[in-house]
Amino acid sequence: MAKKPEAKQYLIKGHPLECPVCKNDTFWMRETLMNTKGLTFFKLEWANQQAQNYVCNNCGYVHWFLQP
Ligand SMILES: [Zn+2]
Repeated sequence: MAKKPEAKQYLIKGHPLECPVCKNDTFWMRETLMNTKGLTFFKLEWANQQAQNYVCNNCGYVHWFLQP
């Protein structure tokens, strides 16, 4: 079984990331490639780019960030 990455605090554009659901401030991060066929329907030019997922270490809420 894959080990969960270590949870830590993150800054987004200088702002501390906080879970809107449970107010927790530690997250573990993973990267996802946004290459789903559904996105091309919207003709989005960034459809194949990398997204960062920050997953709340407490409640599991997933925050999605697209880096241009
Ligand atoms: Zn949470």
